[in-house]
Amino acid sequence: MKQIHHWIDGSFTAGAANRTGPVYNPATGRQTGEVVLGTSGDVDVAVGAAARAYESWQHSSLSQRQNIMFAFRELVSARKREIAETLTAEHGKTVDDAMGEVQRGLEVIEFACNIAHLLKGEYSEQVSTGVDTYTIRQPLGVVVGITPFNFPAMVPMWMYPISIACGNTFVLKPSEKDPSTSQLAAEMLAEAGLPDGVFNIVHGDKEAVDSLITHPDVAAVSFVGSTPIARYIYETGTKHGKRVQALGGAKNHMIVLPDADIDLAADAAVSAGYGSAGERCMAISAVVAVGDAGDRLIDGVQSRIEKLNVGPGDQPGVEMGPLVTKQHLDRVRGYVDAGEKEGALLIADGRNFVVDGYEEGFFLGPTLFDRVEPDMSIYTDEIFGPVLSTVRMEHFEEAIDLINDNPYGNGTAVFTNDGGAARKFQKEIQVGMVGINVPIPVPLSFYSFGGWKNSIFGSHAIYGPEGVHFNTRQKVVISRWADPIHRGVDLGFPTHN
Ligand code: NAD
Repeated sequence: MKQIHHWIDGSFTAGAANRTGPVYNPATGRQTGEVVLGTSGDVDVAVGAAARAYESWQHSSLSQRQNIMFAFRELVSARKREIAETLTAEHGKTVDDAMGEVQRGLEVIEFACNIAHLLKGEYSEQVSTGVDTYTIRQPLGVVVGITPFNFPAMVPMWMYPISIACGNTFVLKPSEKDPSTSQLAAEMLAEAGLPDGVFNIVHGDKEAVDSLITHPDVAAVSFVGSTPIARYIYETGTKHGKRVQALGGAKNHMIVLPDADIDLAADAAVSAGYGSAGERCMAISAVVAVGDAGDRLIDGVQSRIEKLNVGPGDQPGVEMGPLVTKQHLDRVRGYVDAGEKEGALLIADGRNFVVDGYEEGFFLGPTLFDRVEPDMSIYTDEIFGPVLSTVRMEHFEEAIDLINDNPYGNGTAVFTNDGGAARKFQKEIQVGMVGINVPIPVPLSFYSFGGWKNSIFGSHAIYGPEGVHFNTRQKVVISRWADPIHRGVDLGFPTHN
């Protein structure tokens, strides 16, 4: 059985933990590894290493930091397939999908290679006679990242490349369900020349997380995960004086208007609904069919999902893999039971889906509901599985109101050929990331990623320019180097002349 250890101060260590967590291959259902679950003592050691490393790393030159990111970028690019396969073996998504995930992470590393551009300050000469004013952006200190299971390579890469390139040191607490990709990142960062202690990993669950978000030597916390935990991290971290950004869960809607290209919309609904078995924070989980779009759309989605190839993510040609754990599979099945009981029309039922030779795997076939009502649990809750709900609405305005009334606001999309309708949607919708004929509107690395409402707590979105702002603080300098004008003591508030 593979043993997965912390990475602290440049080496792997089991730490003081007397507890471990199981890691499974979701396709076979078998346990393949054991991850140490860190104690508050382990957190102390990791934060201590990061705090010591910060003493020198904060003074490292911009070119040194960028060169290390360049070297890291080359290593990740060269080992992309290995990272993807490692990820598939613990998460279950297809290797192709995992390659896409690593690619999106790589783009954030590339952004960090050019961080200098965003660390430039502003300068105003002669704000007063002989006085200049300028700003500098400086790092915060020890930054913590706490990440979810569904993007074990990409989401940590949304955080640490930018944080480290800004001059911070970092402690990552990856998901305990699929921790091995982070181990590869640690090795590659060391090989790229990152000094010991600048990047550390503490594995674990609530015990490690609670110690990290309350630790006096931690300056800031980036979190990505479900909404209840995001809210808890935000409230606890800020109460302990930390800067916190906490991205939460989602319920992403896709409106299909009657004038839309229905084939395009059906392709998009299936890709965004069932890709990664629905375990994406940007997955479409509710399709809102307006007017007579409904029947045509349901036919299109149904005929497509019948042809989906579901199986182990490491097999060629497979399009959708299993869910991450047995516990999660049972939870998603429970939602399908509830939807049926509450009266939604079950068009495709994936509950008894079995893959030959993988009978113990955590598989659920693509599941489709029609005639879903907004008070049903399959609509109100984030299911995080391959279950797509269709809500029927008479008018576009009702569909917009439905989305705006939803407590989540991560991503959304409209499918239409009417530019006026698209513009109205973009203007009025209360959601942070909007797609127009694009089902999963994930911004590229030079923009920032973040939803609204209960999909984010804190004022900064993640990566891109907002990531740089989150990971630095501004200092304003007002300096006088001209011949001093001696005006004597003046207790009045300074004014300029
Ligand atoms: P999760 O909230 O269960 O776990 C996220 C992290 O929090 C993990 O590292 C976990 O160990 C830790 N954690 C879990 N319970 C905790 C507790 N009680 N106290 C302290 N720490 C705890 O999320 P998950 O199941 O790993 O990931 C799926 C969720 O993440 C979904 O809700 C999904 O929408 C969300 N997500 C959001 C985004 C986004 O950008 N908004 C991106 C990816 C995933």
